[in-house]
Amino acid sequence: MGDAMATGVRADVQDLQMMIGGKWQSGARKATLPVYDPSTEEIIAHVPDAGAEDVDRAVSAARACFETWSQTTAQERGRVLFRIAETVRREMPRLAEIESRNSGKPIVEAEFDINDVATCFEYYGGLATKVMGHVNPVPDNALSLSLKEPVGVAGQIIPWNYPLLMAAWKLAPALAAGCTCVLKPAEQTPLTVLELAKHFDQAGLPAGAVNIVTGYGETAGASLVAHPDVDKIAFTGSAAVGKIILKAAAENIKRVTLELGGKSPNIFFADADFEASIDGALFGVFINQGEVCSAGSRILVERKIYSKFVEAMAAKAKTIKLGPPLERETKMGPLVSKEQYDRVLAYQEIGKKEAKVAAGGGKSKAFHKGFFVEPTVFYDVDNSARIAREEIFGPVATVIPFEDEKDALRIANDTPYGLAAAVWSRDIFRAMRMVKALRAGIVWVNHMQPTYVEAPWGGYKQSGFGRELGPWGIDEYLEIKQVHFNLNEQPIGWY
Ligand code: NAP
Ligand code: MG
Repeated sequence: MGDAMATGVRADVQDLQMMIGGKWQSGARKATLPVYDPSTEEIIAHVPDAGAEDVDRAVSAARACFETWSQTTAQERGRVLFRIAETVRREMPRLAEIESRNSGKPIVEAEFDINDVATCFEYYGGLATKVMGHVNPVPDNALSLSLKEPVGVAGQIIPWNYPLLMAAWKLAPALAAGCTCVLKPAEQTPLTVLELAKHFDQAGLPAGAVNIVTGYGETAGASLVAHPDVDKIAFTGSAAVGKIILKAAAENIKRVTLELGGKSPNIFFADADFEASIDGALFGVFINQGEVCSAGSRILVERKIYSKFVEAMAAKAKTIKLGPPLERETKMGPLVSKEQYDRVLAYQEIGKKEAKVAAGGGKSKAFHKGFFVEPTVFYDVDNSARIAREEIFGPVATVIPFEDEKDALRIANDTPYGLAAAVWSRDIFRAMRMVKALRAGIVWVNHMQPTYVEAPWGGYKQSGFGRELGPWGIDEYLEIKQVHFNLNEQPIGWY
Protein backbone atom coordinates (compact mmCIF):
# COMPACT_ATOMS: atom_id res chain seq x y z
CA MET A 1 0.00 0.00 0.00
CA GLY A 2 1.52 3.26 -1.08
CA ASP A 3 1.04 6.85 -0.12
CA ALA A 4 -2.27 7.04 -1.89
CA MET A 5 -3.57 4.70 0.81
CA ALA A 6 -2.92 7.08 3.66
CA THR A 7 -6.16 8.14 5.32
CA GLY A 8 -4.67 11.49 6.27
CA VAL A 9 -6.31 14.54 7.65
CA ARG A 10 -4.83 16.64 4.86
CA ALA A 11 -7.09 18.82 2.81
CA ASP A 12 -6.67 16.78 -0.38
CA VAL A 13 -9.19 14.08 -1.12
CA GLN A 14 -7.96 10.57 -0.47
CA ASP A 15 -8.81 7.70 -2.79
CA LEU A 16 -8.96 4.71 -0.52
CA GLN A 17 -9.29 1.01 -1.04
CA MET A 18 -10.79 -1.67 1.17
CA MET A 19 -9.11 -4.64 2.81
CA ILE A 20 -9.95 -8.08 1.47
CA GLY A 21 -7.82 -11.16 2.10
CA GLY A 22 -4.98 -9.01 3.45
CA LYS A 23 -4.82 -6.92 0.26
CA TRP A 24 -5.96 -3.41 -0.47
CA GLN A 25 -8.53 -3.62 -3.23
CA SER A 26 -10.96 -1.51 -5.21
CA GLY A 27 -14.45 -2.82 -5.75
CA ALA A 28 -15.09 -5.12 -8.72
CA ARG A 29 -17.44 -2.48 -10.14
CA LYS A 30 -14.89 0.32 -9.52
CA ALA A 31 -17.67 2.44 -8.07
CA THR A 32 -16.85 4.67 -5.09
CA LEU A 33 -18.73 6.60 -2.47
CA PRO A 34 -17.78 9.99 -1.01
CA VAL A 35 -16.80 10.52 2.62
CA TYR A 36 -17.46 13.94 4.17
CA ASP A 37 -16.21 16.24 6.86
CA PRO A 38 -19.57 17.19 8.45
CA SER A 39 -18.21 20.46 9.83
CA THR A 40 -17.25 21.80 6.37
CA GLU A 41 -19.51 19.62 4.18
CA GLU A 42 -16.45 18.92 2.04
CA ILE A 43 -15.55 15.55 0.58
CA ILE A 44 -12.41 14.25 2.27
CA ALA A 45 -12.14 10.78 0.76
CA HIS A 46 -13.63 8.24 -1.59
CA VAL A 47 -13.95 4.60 -0.63
CA PRO A 48 -15.08 1.62 -2.69
CA ASP A 49 -18.81 1.16 -3.07
CA ALA A 50 -18.64 -2.61 -2.69
CA GLY A 51 -21.09 -4.95 -4.35
CA ALA A 52 -22.05 -8.58 -3.99
CA GLU A 53 -18.89 -9.86 -5.76
CA ASP A 54 -16.67 -7.98 -3.33
CA VAL A 55 -18.58 -9.33 -0.36
CA ASP A 56 -18.27 -12.80 -1.83
CA ARG A 57 -14.48 -12.43 -2.14
CA ALA A 58 -14.27 -11.16 1.43
CA VAL A 59 -16.35 -14.06 2.76
CA SER A 60 -14.16 -16.56 0.86
CA ALA A 61 -11.03 -14.98 2.33
CA ALA A 62 -12.55 -15.12 5.81
CA ARG A 63 -13.58 -18.76 5.31
CA ALA A 64 -10.11 -19.75 4.11
CA CYS A 65 -8.48 -17.99 7.05
CA PHE A 66 -10.92 -19.55 9.52
CA GLU A 67 -9.30 -22.94 8.88
CA THR A 68 -6.02 -21.70 10.37
CA TRP A 69 -7.06 -18.87 12.72
CA SER A 70 -9.50 -21.09 14.59
CA GLN A 71 -6.65 -23.58 15.14
CA THR A 72 -4.15 -20.96 16.32
CA THR A 73 -3.55 -21.23 20.05
CA ALA A 74 -5.55 -18.92 22.28
CA GLN A 75 -2.27 -17.50 23.57
CA GLU A 76 -1.22 -16.51 20.08
CA ARG A 77 -4.61 -14.98 19.27
CA GLY A 78 -4.38 -13.06 22.51
CA ARG A 79 -0.93 -11.76 21.62
CA VAL A 80 -2.16 -10.51 18.25
CA LEU A 81 -4.94 -8.60 20.00
CA PHE A 82 -2.47 -7.09 22.47
CA ARG A 83 -0.34 -5.92 19.53
CA ILE A 84 -3.38 -4.33 17.89
CA ALA A 85 -4.10 -2.58 21.20
CA GLU A 86 -0.53 -1.29 21.35
CA THR A 87 -0.87 0.03 17.82
CA VAL A 88 -4.08 1.83 18.73
CA ARG A 89 -2.40 3.46 21.73
CA ARG A 90 0.60 4.47 19.65
CA GLU A 91 -1.54 5.83 16.79
CA MET A 92 -4.08 7.41 19.16
CA PRO A 93 -3.58 11.07 18.16
CA ARG A 94 -3.91 10.28 14.47
CA LEU A 95 -6.88 7.92 14.90
CA ALA A 96 -8.66 10.42 17.15
CA GLU A 97 -8.10 13.21 14.67
CA ILE A 98 -9.47 11.19 11.76
CA GLU A 99 -12.43 10.03 13.87
CA SER A 100 -13.24 13.56 14.98
CA ARG A 101 -12.95 15.00 11.51
CA ASN A 102 -14.99 12.28 9.84
CA SER A 103 -17.78 11.87 12.41
CA GLY A 104 -17.99 15.43 13.77
CA LYS A 105 -17.49 14.41 17.38
CA PRO A 106 -15.34 16.69 19.57
CA ILE A 107 -11.69 15.70 19.55
CA VAL A 108 -11.63 15.20 23.32
CA GLU A 109 -14.49 12.69 23.05
CA ALA A 110 -12.74 10.99 20.13
CA GLU A 111 -9.66 10.53 22.29
CA PHE A 112 -11.79 8.83 24.95
CA ASP A 113 -13.24 6.55 22.29
CA ILE A 114 -9.85 5.55 20.87
CA ASN A 115 -8.60 4.83 24.37
CA ASP A 116 -11.63 2.56 24.84
CA VAL A 117 -10.80 0.86 21.52
CA ALA A 118 -7.35 -0.08 22.85
CA THR A 119 -8.85 -1.26 26.15
CA CYS A 120 -11.32 -3.44 24.26
CA PHE A 121 -8.55 -5.21 22.32
CA GLU A 122 -6.58 -5.65 25.56
CA TYR A 123 -9.58 -7.08 27.38
CA TYR A 124 -10.33 -9.67 24.71
CA GLY A 125 -6.61 -10.39 24.26
CA GLY A 126 -6.64 -11.46 27.89
CA LEU A 127 -9.96 -13.25 27.66
CA ALA A 128 -8.82 -15.39 24.70
CA THR A 129 -7.03 -17.77 27.09
CA LYS A 130 -9.91 -17.88 29.56
CA VAL A 131 -12.54 -19.47 27.35
CA MET A 132 -13.31 -22.65 29.20
CA GLY A 133 -15.55 -25.61 28.76
CA HIS A 134 -17.43 -27.52 31.40
CA VAL A 135 -17.72 -31.00 32.85
CA ASN A 136 -21.39 -31.99 32.95
CA PRO A 137 -22.43 -34.13 35.96
CA VAL A 138 -24.34 -36.79 33.97
CA PRO A 139 -25.69 -39.75 35.96
CA ASP A 140 -23.75 -42.48 34.16
CA ASN A 141 -20.35 -44.10 33.86
CA ALA A 142 -19.35 -41.47 31.39
CA LEU A 143 -17.45 -38.23 31.01
CA SER A 144 -19.64 -35.49 29.63
CA LEU A 145 -18.04 -32.26 28.43
CA SER A 146 -19.21 -28.98 26.97
CA LEU A 147 -16.63 -27.48 24.63
CA LYS A 148 -16.70 -23.98 23.23
CA GLU A 149 -15.79 -23.52 19.58
CA PRO A 150 -15.77 -20.49 17.30
CA VAL A 151 -18.97 -19.94 15.36
CA GLY A 152 -17.11 -19.44 12.05
CA VAL A 153 -17.24 -16.46 9.70
CA ALA A 154 -18.85 -13.41 11.30
CA GLY A 155 -20.48 -10.65 9.26
CA GLN A 156 -20.38 -7.41 11.25
CA ILE A 157 -22.35 -4.30 10.37
CA ILE A 158 -21.86 -1.13 12.35
CA PRO A 159 -23.16 2.46 12.60
CA TRP A 160 -21.45 5.84 12.36
CA ASN A 161 -21.74 7.26 15.87
CA TYR A 162 -18.74 5.48 17.45
CA PRO A 163 -17.04 4.23 14.29
CA LEU A 164 -13.82 2.62 15.54
CA LEU A 165 -15.23 1.70 18.94
CA MET A 166 -18.14 -0.20 17.38
CA ALA A 167 -15.62 -1.97 15.12
CA ALA A 168 -13.54 -2.92 18.18
CA TRP A 169 -16.59 -4.21 20.07
CA LYS A 170 -17.21 -6.57 17.15
CA LEU A 171 -13.71 -7.50 15.98
CA ALA A 172 -11.98 -8.08 19.33
CA PRO A 173 -14.32 -10.73 20.80
CA ALA A 174 -14.74 -12.45 17.43
CA LEU A 175 -10.98 -12.77 16.89
CA ALA A 176 -10.41 -13.84 20.49
CA ALA A 177 -12.98 -16.60 19.98
CA GLY A 178 -11.21 -17.81 16.82
CA CYS A 179 -13.73 -16.43 14.34
CA THR A 180 -12.82 -14.51 11.21
CA CYS A 181 -14.62 -11.34 10.19
CA VAL A 182 -16.10 -9.39 7.34
CA LEU A 183 -16.90 -5.94 8.68
CA LYS A 184 -18.93 -3.29 6.91
CA PRO A 185 -18.43 0.15 8.43
CA ALA A 186 -21.14 2.77 8.07
CA GLU A 187 -21.07 4.53 4.70
CA GLN A 188 -20.43 7.87 6.47
CA THR A 189 -17.49 6.81 8.65
CA PRO A 190 -15.16 4.19 7.14
CA LEU A 191 -11.89 6.04 7.72
CA THR A 192 -10.60 4.98 11.15
CA VAL A 193 -11.12 1.27 10.67
CA LEU A 194 -9.34 1.46 7.29
CA GLU A 195 -6.53 3.33 9.01
CA LEU A 196 -6.26 0.66 11.71
CA ALA A 197 -6.29 -2.10 9.09
CA LYS A 198 -2.96 -0.79 7.77
CA HIS A 199 -1.38 -2.21 10.92
CA PHE A 200 -3.06 -5.63 11.02
CA ASP A 201 -0.28 -7.40 9.14
CA GLN A 202 2.41 -6.06 11.44
CA ALA A 203 0.39 -7.08 14.48
CA GLY A 204 0.53 -10.65 13.19
CA LEU A 205 -3.08 -10.94 12.09
CA PRO A 206 -3.17 -13.38 9.17
CA ALA A 207 -4.56 -12.24 5.81
CA GLY A 208 -8.31 -12.78 5.70
CA ALA A 209 -8.89 -12.78 9.47
CA VAL A 210 -10.41 -9.31 9.19
CA ASN A 211 -11.83 -8.06 5.91
CA ILE A 212 -13.19 -4.53 5.68
CA VAL A 213 -15.80 -4.05 2.98
CA THR A 214 -16.88 -0.45 2.50
CA GLY A 215 -20.21 0.38 0.92
CA TYR A 216 -23.90 0.91 1.44
CA GLY A 217 -26.16 -1.08 3.69
CA GLU A 218 -28.69 -1.86 1.00
CA THR A 219 -26.01 -3.42 -1.25
CA ALA A 220 -22.83 -4.49 0.58
CA GLY A 221 -24.61 -4.93 3.93
CA ALA A 222 -27.53 -6.87 2.46
CA SER A 223 -25.15 -9.13 0.48
CA LEU A 224 -23.28 -9.96 3.65
CA VAL A 225 -26.48 -10.80 5.50
CA ALA A 226 -27.70 -12.96 2.60
CA HIS A 227 -24.39 -14.77 2.05
CA PRO A 228 -24.80 -18.53 2.59
CA ASP A 229 -21.26 -18.94 3.95
CA VAL A 230 -21.59 -16.37 6.74
CA ASP A 231 -22.36 -18.09 10.06
CA LYS A 232 -23.29 -15.12 12.16
CA ILE A 233 -24.34 -11.51 11.78
CA ALA A 234 -23.54 -9.00 14.50
CA PHE A 235 -25.39 -5.75 13.89
CA THR A 236 -25.52 -2.38 15.58
CA GLY A 237 -27.85 0.19 14.14
CA SER A 238 -31.48 1.14 13.88
CA ALA A 239 -34.40 -1.09 14.81
CA ALA A 240 -35.79 -0.70 11.28
CA VAL A 241 -32.67 -2.23 9.71
CA GLY A 242 -32.45 -4.79 12.55
CA LYS A 243 -35.84 -6.14 11.49
CA ILE A 244 -34.71 -6.45 7.84
CA ILE A 245 -31.57 -8.29 8.95
CA LEU A 246 -33.42 -10.67 11.21
CA LYS A 247 -35.74 -11.68 8.36
CA ALA A 248 -32.91 -12.08 5.84
CA ALA A 249 -30.78 -14.12 8.25
CA ALA A 250 -33.58 -16.65 8.57
CA GLU A 251 -32.73 -17.98 5.10
CA ASN A 252 -29.80 -20.12 6.35
CA ILE A 253 -30.48 -19.80 10.11
CA LYS A 254 -27.57 -17.47 10.76
CA ARG A 255 -26.86 -16.60 14.34
CA VAL A 256 -27.85 -12.99 14.88
CA THR A 257 -27.13 -10.45 17.59
CA LEU A 258 -28.78 -7.06 17.39
CA GLU A 259 -27.82 -3.89 19.23
CA LEU A 260 -30.58 -1.49 18.24
CA GLY A 261 -31.73 1.92 19.30
CA GLY A 262 -33.49 3.26 22.31
CA LYS A 263 -35.57 5.99 23.87
CA SER A 264 -34.03 5.65 27.26
CA PRO A 265 -35.56 7.27 30.36
CA ASN A 266 -33.34 9.31 32.67
CA ILE A 267 -35.41 9.60 35.86
CA PHE A 268 -34.92 12.32 38.47
CA PHE A 269 -36.47 12.25 41.94
CA ALA A 270 -36.65 15.39 44.03
CA ASP A 271 -34.33 13.95 46.69
CA ALA A 272 -31.37 13.62 44.28
CA ASP A 273 -28.55 16.16 44.34
CA PHE A 274 -29.96 18.94 42.16
CA GLU A 275 -26.77 20.14 40.52
CA ALA A 276 -25.56 16.62 39.81
CA SER A 277 -28.99 15.91 38.33
CA ILE A 278 -28.87 18.81 35.87
CA ASP A 279 -25.38 17.81 34.84
CA GLY A 280 -26.42 14.18 34.49
CA ALA A 281 -29.46 15.08 32.41
CA LEU A 282 -27.33 17.13 29.99
CA PHE A 283 -24.54 14.58 29.79
CA GLY A 284 -27.02 11.75 29.31
CA VAL A 285 -28.63 13.28 26.25
CA PHE A 286 -26.10 15.65 24.65
CA ILE A 287 -22.85 13.69 24.72
CA ASN A 288 -21.67 12.89 21.17
CA GLN A 289 -24.26 15.38 19.79
CA GLY A 290 -26.97 13.07 21.15
CA GLU A 291 -25.98 10.48 18.55
CA VAL A 292 -25.91 7.76 21.16
CA CYS A 293 -28.02 4.61 21.18
CA SER A 294 -28.36 4.81 24.97
CA ALA A 295 -29.06 8.57 25.01
CA GLY A 296 -31.23 9.58 27.97
CA SER A 297 -33.59 11.34 25.60
CA ARG A 298 -36.67 11.07 27.84
CA ILE A 299 -35.96 13.05 30.97
CA LEU A 300 -38.54 12.19 33.62
CA VAL A 301 -38.67 14.70 36.47
CA GLU A 302 -40.64 14.57 39.72
CA ARG A 303 -43.32 17.28 39.71
CA LYS A 304 -41.97 18.91 42.92
CA ILE A 305 -38.75 20.02 41.16
CA TYR A 306 -40.03 20.06 37.58
CA SER A 307 -40.16 23.84 36.84
CA LYS A 308 -36.86 24.54 38.51
CA PHE A 309 -35.31 21.58 36.70
CA VAL A 310 -36.49 22.64 33.23
CA GLU A 311 -35.26 26.17 33.84
CA ALA A 312 -31.82 25.09 35.08
CA MET A 313 -31.39 22.51 32.36
CA ALA A 314 -32.34 24.96 29.61
CA ALA A 315 -30.03 27.64 31.00
CA LYS A 316 -27.08 25.28 31.01
CA ALA A 317 -27.94 23.74 27.62
CA LYS A 318 -27.68 27.23 26.10
CA THR A 319 -24.05 27.46 27.27
CA ILE A 320 -22.87 24.26 25.57
CA LYS A 321 -20.04 25.23 23.26
CA LEU A 322 -20.64 24.21 19.68
CA GLY A 323 -17.65 24.39 17.39
CA PRO A 324 -15.27 22.74 14.96
CA PRO A 325 -14.72 19.18 16.18
CA LEU A 326 -10.92 19.50 16.16
CA GLU A 327 -10.91 22.45 18.58
CA ARG A 328 -10.29 21.26 22.10
CA GLU A 329 -12.83 23.62 23.71
CA THR A 330 -15.63 22.25 21.56
CA LYS A 331 -18.27 20.38 23.53
CA MET A 332 -20.61 19.65 20.64
CA GLY A 333 -19.73 19.18 16.97
CA PRO A 334 -21.93 18.91 13.89
CA LEU A 335 -24.20 15.95 13.22
CA VAL A 336 -22.61 13.27 11.10
CA SER A 337 -24.38 13.86 7.77
CA LYS A 338 -26.85 15.94 5.82
CA GLU A 339 -29.34 13.10 6.12
CA GLN A 340 -29.09 13.04 9.92
CA TYR A 341 -29.19 16.85 10.06
CA ASP A 342 -32.41 16.99 8.04
CA ARG A 343 -33.89 14.23 10.18
CA VAL A 344 -33.13 16.04 13.44
CA LEU A 345 -34.36 19.40 12.11
CA ALA A 346 -37.60 17.70 11.08
CA TYR A 347 -38.03 16.28 14.59
CA GLN A 348 -37.43 19.73 16.07
CA GLU A 349 -40.33 21.02 13.96
CA ILE A 350 -42.52 18.14 15.10
CA GLY A 351 -41.49 18.89 18.69
CA LYS A 352 -42.57 22.53 18.41
CA LYS A 353 -46.08 21.33 17.58
CA GLU A 354 -46.15 18.66 20.28
CA ALA A 355 -44.53 20.45 23.23
CA LYS A 356 -42.94 23.65 24.54
CA VAL A 357 -39.37 24.76 23.82
CA ALA A 358 -37.07 25.63 26.72
CA ALA A 359 -33.84 25.80 24.71
CA GLY A 360 -32.71 25.55 21.10
CA GLY A 361 -35.22 24.24 18.60
CA GLY A 362 -33.44 24.58 15.27
CA LYS A 363 -30.22 24.63 13.37
CA SER A 364 -27.37 26.59 14.89
CA LYS A 365 -27.20 30.12 13.47
CA ALA A 366 -23.54 30.49 14.41
CA PHE A 367 -22.24 28.48 11.45
CA HIS A 368 -22.55 29.03 7.72
CA LYS A 369 -21.38 25.53 6.92
CA GLY A 370 -21.65 22.21 8.64
CA PHE A 371 -24.47 20.22 10.17
CA PHE A 372 -24.67 22.08 13.48
CA VAL A 373 -27.87 21.83 15.50
CA GLU A 374 -28.78 23.68 18.69
CA PRO A 375 -28.93 21.60 21.86
CA THR A 376 -32.68 21.46 22.25
CA VAL A 377 -34.84 20.98 25.34
CA PHE A 378 -38.56 20.35 24.90
CA TYR A 379 -40.74 20.30 28.02
CA ASP A 380 -44.33 19.48 28.94
CA VAL A 381 -43.90 16.54 26.60
CA ASP A 382 -46.52 13.82 26.71
CA ASN A 383 -45.02 10.34 26.57
CA SER A 384 -47.33 9.55 23.64
CA ALA A 385 -45.78 12.35 21.52
CA ARG A 386 -43.65 11.33 18.54
CA ILE A 387 -40.62 13.10 20.06
CA ALA A 388 -41.03 10.91 23.14
CA ARG A 389 -41.53 7.65 21.24
CA GLU A 390 -39.24 7.81 18.19
CA GLU A 391 -35.48 7.74 18.35
CA ILE A 392 -34.20 11.12 17.13
CA PHE A 393 -30.47 10.43 17.46
CA GLY A 394 -29.50 14.05 17.85
CA PRO A 395 -29.25 16.70 20.60
CA VAL A 396 -32.95 16.78 21.42
CA ALA A 397 -34.17 16.24 24.98
CA THR A 398 -37.80 15.71 25.95
CA VAL A 399 -38.65 16.53 29.55
CA ILE A 400 -41.69 14.80 31.03
CA PRO A 401 -43.09 15.41 34.53
CA PHE A 402 -44.19 12.58 36.84
CA GLU A 403 -46.12 12.49 40.12
CA ASP A 404 -44.63 9.61 42.10
CA GLU A 405 -42.59 6.44 41.82
CA LYS A 406 -45.39 4.42 40.29
CA ASP A 407 -46.06 7.09 37.70
CA ALA A 408 -42.34 7.32 36.85
CA LEU A 409 -42.15 3.59 36.26
CA ARG A 410 -45.26 3.53 34.13
CA ILE A 411 -43.90 6.27 31.85
CA ALA A 412 -40.35 4.86 31.81
CA ASN A 413 -41.46 1.41 30.67
CA ASP A 414 -44.05 2.72 28.21
CA THR A 415 -41.79 2.45 25.15
CA PRO A 416 -41.09 -0.21 22.54
CA TYR A 417 -37.40 0.04 23.41
CA GLY A 418 -35.42 -1.22 26.39
CA LEU A 419 -31.75 -0.43 25.96
CA ALA A 420 -30.95 1.69 29.00
CA ALA A 421 -32.38 3.72 31.89
CA ALA A 422 -31.05 5.80 34.74
CA VAL A 423 -32.44 6.68 38.16
CA TRP A 424 -31.32 9.59 40.35
CA SER A 425 -32.23 9.44 44.02
CA ARG A 426 -30.57 9.33 47.42
CA ASP A 427 -33.16 6.84 48.68
CA ILE A 428 -31.43 3.49 48.20
CA PHE A 429 -34.66 1.51 48.70
CA ARG A 430 -36.47 3.46 46.05
CA ALA A 431 -33.50 3.22 43.69
CA MET A 432 -33.42 -0.56 44.12
CA ARG A 433 -37.19 -0.87 43.53
CA MET A 434 -36.78 1.14 40.33
CA VAL A 435 -33.78 -0.92 39.18
CA LYS A 436 -35.78 -4.12 39.56
CA ALA A 437 -38.86 -2.83 37.77
CA LEU A 438 -37.23 -1.05 34.83
CA ARG A 439 -37.35 -3.08 31.60
CA ALA A 440 -33.92 -2.24 30.21
CA GLY A 441 -30.62 -4.00 29.60
CA ILE A 442 -28.57 -1.34 31.36
CA VAL A 443 -29.65 0.65 34.43
CA TRP A 444 -27.47 3.35 35.90
CA VAL A 445 -28.05 4.83 39.36
CA ASN A 446 -26.95 8.43 39.94
CA HIS A 447 -25.08 8.50 36.63
CA MET A 448 -25.79 7.97 32.96
CA GLN A 449 -23.62 6.59 30.15
CA PRO A 450 -20.50 5.15 31.76
CA THR A 451 -19.68 2.07 29.69
CA TYR A 452 -17.01 -0.49 30.49
CA VAL A 453 -15.66 -3.37 28.46
CA GLU A 454 -15.96 -5.55 31.58
CA ALA A 455 -19.75 -5.13 31.86
CA PRO A 456 -22.52 -6.42 29.54
CA TRP A 457 -24.10 -4.16 26.93
CA GLY A 458 -27.37 -4.79 25.12
CA GLY A 459 -31.09 -4.27 25.18
CA TYR A 460 -34.49 -5.63 26.15
CA LYS A 461 -37.56 -5.48 23.91
CA GLN A 462 -37.04 -3.81 20.51
CA SER A 463 -33.55 -2.67 21.47
CA GLY A 464 -32.38 -6.07 20.31
CA PHE A 465 -30.91 -9.21 21.80
CA GLY A 466 -27.56 -10.69 22.60
CA ARG A 467 -24.93 -8.93 24.70
CA GLU A 468 -21.67 -7.30 23.78
CA LEU A 469 -18.64 -6.74 26.03
CA GLY A 470 -17.40 -8.76 28.97
CA PRO A 471 -17.46 -12.55 28.83
CA TRP A 472 -20.97 -12.27 27.34
CA GLY A 473 -19.49 -10.63 24.26
CA ILE A 474 -17.22 -13.55 23.44
CA ASP A 475 -19.95 -16.12 24.12
CA GLU A 476 -21.91 -14.68 21.19
CA TYR A 477 -19.07 -15.87 18.91
CA LEU A 478 -18.90 -19.38 20.39
CA GLU A 479 -20.86 -22.55 19.75
CA ILE A 480 -21.21 -25.14 22.49
CA LYS A 481 -20.37 -28.73 21.61
CA GLN A 482 -21.52 -31.49 23.91
CA VAL A 483 -19.06 -34.42 24.05
CA HIS A 484 -19.90 -37.75 25.66
CA PHE A 485 -17.23 -40.34 26.52
CA ASN A 486 -18.66 -43.72 27.33
CA LEU A 487 -16.47 -45.22 30.08
CA ASN A 488 -18.41 -48.49 30.22
CA GLU A 489 -17.00 -51.15 27.89
CA GLN A 490 -20.10 -53.40 28.10
CA PRO A 491 -22.46 -53.54 25.08
CA ILE A 492 -25.55 -51.39 25.42
CA GLY A 493 -27.57 -54.63 25.46
CA TRP A 494 -30.94 -53.22 24.37
CA TYR A 495 -31.47 -55.48 21.34
P1 NAP B 1 -28.71 2.12 10.26
O1 NAP B 1 -29.28 2.84 9.12
O2 NAP B 1 -29.50 1.06 10.92
O3 NAP B 1 -27.31 1.56 9.74
C1 NAP B 1 -26.49 0.75 10.51
C2 NAP B 1 -25.65 -0.07 9.57
O4 NAP B 1 -26.48 -0.97 8.85
C3 NAP B 1 -24.93 0.76 8.51
O5 NAP B 1 -23.68 0.19 8.27
C4 NAP B 1 -25.86 0.62 7.34
O6 NAP B 1 -25.30 0.89 6.10
C5 NAP B 1 -26.28 -0.82 7.47
N1 NAP B 1 -27.49 -1.17 6.73
C6 NAP B 1 -28.50 -0.35 6.33
N2 NAP B 1 -29.44 -1.05 5.66
C7 NAP B 1 -29.02 -2.33 5.62
C8 NAP B 1 -29.55 -3.53 5.06
N3 NAP B 1 -30.71 -3.56 4.40
N4 NAP B 1 -28.84 -4.68 5.22
C9 NAP B 1 -27.69 -4.68 5.89
N5 NAP B 1 -27.13 -3.58 6.42
C10 NAP B 1 -27.79 -2.42 6.31
O7 NAP B 1 -28.28 3.05 11.44
P2 NAP B 1 -27.35 4.32 11.36
O8 NAP B 1 -28.13 5.36 10.66
O9 NAP B 1 -26.04 3.98 10.84
O10 NAP B 1 -27.16 4.63 12.95
C11 NAP B 1 -28.16 5.16 13.75
C12 NAP B 1 -28.96 4.07 14.45
O11 NAP B 1 -28.10 3.10 15.06
C13 NAP B 1 -29.78 4.62 15.56
O12 NAP B 1 -31.10 4.23 15.41
C14 NAP B 1 -29.17 4.04 16.84
O13 NAP B 1 -30.05 3.79 17.87
C15 NAP B 1 -28.53 2.80 16.39
N6 NAP B 1 -27.36 2.49 17.23
C16 NAP B 1 -27.47 1.53 18.21
C17 NAP B 1 -26.39 1.22 19.01
C18 NAP B 1 -26.46 0.16 20.09
O14 NAP B 1 -25.46 -0.17 20.71
N7 NAP B 1 -27.61 -0.39 20.38
C19 NAP B 1 -25.17 1.89 18.82
C20 NAP B 1 -25.10 2.84 17.83
C21 NAP B 1 -26.20 3.13 17.04
P3 NAP B 1 -25.21 2.43 5.60
O15 NAP B 1 -23.92 2.86 6.15
O16 NAP B 1 -25.22 2.42 4.12
O17 NAP B 1 -26.37 3.16 6.16
MG1 MG C 1 -27.86 4.46 7.39
